[in-house]
Amino acid sequence: MGKRKSRAKPAPTKRMDKLDTVFSCPFCNHGSSVECIIDMKNLIGSAACRICEESFSTTITALTEAIDIYSEWIDECERVNTVEDDVEQEEEEEEVEEEEEEEDDEDDHVSVKRKYNNYRD
Ligand SMILES: [Zn+2]
Repeated sequence: MGKRKSRAKPAPTKRMDKLDTVFSCPFCNHGSSVECIIDMKNLIGSAACRICEESFSTTITALTEAIDIYSEWIDECERVNTVEDDVEQEEEEEEVEEEEEEEDDEDDHVSVKRKYNNYRD
């Protein structure tokens, strides 16, 4: 029970208070290699890493700051990562089972599972 995989996920989404336009890259993890460019004429914001040349662009508004573009890029990256994580979802499935155990209908299922656990011990 309780085999917890620690997900080796770096946390690059540090909120920076100062209005910086240089951020750390979610791909190569360089600390200050991503530069955001705000194109107010065309309302396009882009972020690009000068180390690994990954880039991202999105539509912006007059209120968009560099950090917003960067955050959107990070969100995009996390969406992609979440899809890949489907392979190792054991942790989340365990939590679902715990909820099921509280339902009366599941009693049979639970005792079978307990027996199974004894065998494993
Ligand atoms: Zn990079």
